[in-house]
Amino acid sequence: MHVDSRLIESQTIINTDICIIGAGPAGITIAREFNGKSINVLLLESGGFERDPQVQDLSQGTNEGDPYPSPAGVRERLVGGTAHVWPIDLDNGRMGVRYVPLDPIDFEKRSWVPYSGWPITRADLDPYYERAHGVAQTGPYNYNPADWETPDAKAISFRGNRVTTQMFHFGPRDIFTQEYRQELENSPNVTLMTYAHALQLETDELAQRVTGVKVGALGGHQFCITAKVVILAQGALEATRLLLLSDSVQTGGLGNGYDLVGRF
Ligand SMILES: Cc1cc2nc3c(=O)[nH]c(=O)nc-3n(C[C@H](O)[C@H](O)[C@H](O)COP(=O)(O)OP(=O)(O)OC[C@H]3O[C@@H](n4cnc5c(N)ncnc54)[C@H](O)[C@@H]3O)c2cc1C
Repeated sequence: MHVDSRLIESQTIINTDICIIGAGPAGITIAREFNGKSINVLLLESGGFERDPQVQDLSQGTNEGDPYPSPAGVRERLVGGTAHVWPIDLDNGRMGVRYVPLDPIDFEKRSWVPYSGWPITRADLDPYYERAHGVAQTGPYNYNPADWETPDAKAISFRGNRVTTQMFHFGPRDIFTQEYRQELENSPNVTLMTYAHALQLETDELAQRVTGVKVGALGGHQFCITAKVVILAQGALEATRLLLLSDSVQTGGLGNGYDLVGRF
């Protein structure tokens, strides 16, 4: 179902099992996993169904260090998120995006890369990448160039291994901007709430557990969501911003005891 948060009265408290913040590809994908299950899910989205410059402005930020465009120019605030600007012509009347998994070496500790080394490997992610391919409605989870060679399209052979042939998969954007959005609007247990800007995460008194979300609607009124689980899916920049803003119990921002939130 769909609720426009501008119609919710100030100071209302809404209870749910799971609150997902952000209805871009990530948030929509997670919400769909619960569709039709006996669990209540609230999918909070800052924008509406159309691009609104006033909402888009909330992504403004300045950049220091390496050159990077303003976040308002590279992230979209509406249901479907940044998928709205995926620019690749798929040659079938649809626009889309290119997919590729991280390489195994990206997870490994490398002496020449400060802070490198993840606690998981690419193999740990493979089953999830495979499922994500289904959601993305792209090809099978196979990036081995040899398997895609045809007489007309041969891998280029290079001398040595410094340059190699790699594969991309491509998938449509309208699944996130239209198809899945409609699925969620028709869902009996997932509520898509538009024009709902997460302002702060609320926690218990030790900042060990997130208990809810303070939400603001354009026009100034605020209300609260309480949830057993809160999932941040606003994209890397905005999720970081929300953690840093959530400093009423943990000084310096939630989860930021080591001053590392947003540094990577
Ligand atoms: C032009 C362009 C081309 C791209 N091409 C590719 C590509 O080929 N391959 C690729 O892998 N990636 C590509 N990307 C990157 C890709 O779009 C993002 O990685 C992807 O959209 C991230 O999905 P997401 O759901 O995490 O975040 P987003 O798509 O950014 O969605 C986040 C959602 O959260 C909402 N939100 C934000 N803050 C709040 C808040 N406080 N409260 C409530 N809601 C909030 C936003 O309104 C938005 O709807 C491209 C990006 C751009 C701009």
